[in-house]
Amino acid sequence: MSSPKSSLRPEILNPLFVKTTALKGIGPRLGKLVEKLVGEKIVDLLWHLPSGLIDRRFSPKVGDAPPNDVVTLTVEVLAHSPPPPGNRRVPYRVTCGDDTGRIVLVFFHAKGDYLEDALPIGERRVISGKVELFDGRRQMTHPDHIVELKDIASVQRVEPVYPLTAGLSGKVLDRAVKAALERAPKLPDWLDPAFKKQRQWPDWHEALTTAHNPTSEAELSPLTLSRSRLAYDEMLSNQLALSLVRLKARKRRGRELKGDGKLRAKVIAGLPYKLTGAQSRTLAEIEADMSSENRMLRLLQGDVGSGKTLVALMSMLIAVEAGAQAAMMAPTELLAHQHFENLKPLAALAGVRLEILTGRVKGAVRTEIMEGLANGSIHMVVGTHALVQKDVEFADLAFAVIDEQHRFGVAQRLELAEKGRGTDMLVMTATPIPRTLALTAYGDMDVSKLDEKPPGRKPVDTRTISLERLDETIAGIGRAIQKGAKVYWVCPLIEESEVTDLAAAEDRYATLKARLGNTVGLIHGRMKPNERDVVMEAFASKDGPGKDSSGPKILVATTVIEVGVDVPDATIMVIEHAERFGLSQLHQLRGRVGRGGKEGTCLLLFAPPLGETAKARLNILRQTEDGFLIAEEDLRLRGSGEMLGTRQSGMPEFRMADLSVHGELVAIARDDAQLIISRDAELKTPRGEALRTMLYLFEQDEAIKTLRSG
Ligand code: ADP
Ligand code: MG
Repeated sequence: MSSPKSSLRPEILNPLFVKTTALKGIGPRLGKLVEKLVGEKIVDLLWHLPSGLIDRRFSPKVGDAPPNDVVTLTVEVLAHSPPPPGNRRVPYRVTCGDDTGRIVLVFFHAKGDYLEDALPIGERRVISGKVELFDGRRQMTHPDHIVELKDIASVQRVEPVYPLTAGLSGKVLDRAVKAALERAPKLPDWLDPAFKKQRQWPDWHEALTTAHNPTSEAELSPLTLSRSRLAYDEMLSNQLALSLVRLKARKRRGRELKGDGKLRAKVIAGLPYKLTGAQSRTLAEIEADMSSENRMLRLLQGDVGSGKTLVALMSMLIAVEAGAQAAMMAPTELLAHQHFENLKPLAALAGVRLEILTGRVKGAVRTEIMEGLANGSIHMVVGTHALVQKDVEFADLAFAVIDEQHRFGVAQRLELAEKGRGTDMLVMTATPIPRTLALTAYGDMDVSKLDEKPPGRKPVDTRTISLERLDETIAGIGRAIQKGAKVYWVCPLIEESEVTDLAAAEDRYATLKARLGNTVGLIHGRMKPNERDVVMEAFASKDGPGKDSSGPKILVATTVIEVGVDVPDATIMVIEHAERFGLSQLHQLRGRVGRGGKEGTCLLLFAPPLGETAKARLNILRQTEDGFLIAEEDLRLRGSGEMLGTRQSGMPEFRMADLSVHGELVAIARDDAQLIISRDAELKTPRGEALRTMLYLFEQDEAIKTLRSG
């Protein structure tokens, strides 16, 4: 009997897999902040490496303490002078000194009792902070540390500085990370000994400790032995997890799907255009995969507008020609509808039955679709996650297309395929991904690229404009909507705060409304998905002959505009603070306009002054519309962490690895993972056991499941 075990995680790791609130000094309030910054579990603290350091080892006599230096002083507390009652502007002063001189500690808005407690008159204390000179006298405003003599070692050291979030002090985080490190066990090494030796890498535990205790600026480099090792561990887990999942997918036999080409011929005959070279080539690759007995797992990469829909449909038809069914899954209701609308006329040309199944489809209609899928009278279906619900059955699902899959997890990709037998799978993405990144996201998946756009598309006129010219820009937009244009106006993510983010969009919405009247709509991340759909649909609604659609002409948005949502008559994209976006993100956003055969314009509003790199980055967008080129450049200029914008991308979020620095290690990790799989696919050897622990450590639980289910 299989018990509903929550996890088979090795016990040795358990102390790391509890909430950070289990640590002393982290209550519910701080726990929330820590969670926002690093994550909810103690293990997350381990991966949060210092970004700087403060050297507190310098401990001169008071009389020798140089101004503007950080020092650690041992002093006697001489006198307290609280501010006069009722005058909060005067600081609380505490005079301290040694036999060489005096220093005044300055506290604004201080609590007197706390200070009397921390700095009792006549006693000696260790204080650390920056020395200032005020009226020729030494003072220290808000010392960073005040401790008793016996605790001097905790202060007189090189202190790591961690990236922080508002409300969380460095001291608290430092203490939490220390406590987390104390819980980190020594683990059997999972690295290949020869490789580890060749690289001169330390053990995991040592690497972690060293990385958290830098003693010089040089040790903050991502290329130190310790940090490289930690980065490699992270990439190896990623690659091994992908290989395991892929191995499972491959183990199931595929089937030979061969179509007679009749349905496809009908579609081609009915199309007003010819397939592009890239479309034909890609289709040939897919057809070859499908007709082989191996299971297909192929990634179709194509920039926005490269014609992925047609490729997907033609591939789906191969399955239908072979007498089976095909399904396409999209991440949102809206995208599913859009695919459905786009596929409908093509399916009609072929004369096959196409339906849509989403969470919104209910009652009798749903029952009918479920029956059709189960008895095979429905040949093709488009839908959302609703497609993988338990009660959905297919007569014979042989081909699955997953669109914009980066919103689906690795395991979810396989879920739809599991509804069928030997189901071939095509994953579509519009995100152009450089090779190193593709490796980390998809492992050794086969890749087809639609690198040629349908002819006749006009490039989007892309311009950079200083925010100083906002007024002119708004006036111009006003004229454009008079002439019938539809406009997206995107406001950027500010910091990590959704609240300020929203505030910026709401402000802009208000300004535009004041200037341009009721033609402005607002959409943001705080809205429920169906509320967003309503706004999006209103914006997308067409002006019929003689009637004016009531929908907004300008849509102010935070960056939630769904990749892939099509509003064909939207022709202008305004992006505010373009300098804060990833290039690929900008490129994706730009791809939203000029899709209906009309010329598109993209205005990149930037806040001056713009640095050299920022200027160079934005210029790339003006120079090219090649998403792959843009992605490569972006990776080069900014590093992977920032490149795709964190959450939106769904790319694996590395905590320690930075592909722009550790890129070389990705390919090694991939080869390492493949070798491991070929020699010890069940991870049963001693190294295999250690690797298993590593996978748990990096929370690759989905991959470990594949080991268990065999
Ligand atoms: P994607 O999904 O890759 O962003 P679509 O499949 O939506 O792109 O195609 C964009 C547009 O190009 C659609 O209007 C489609 O009808 C059109 N299209 C697709 N293939 C061709 C082609 N070979 N020639 C001309 N137009 C095409
Ligand atoms: Mg599309």
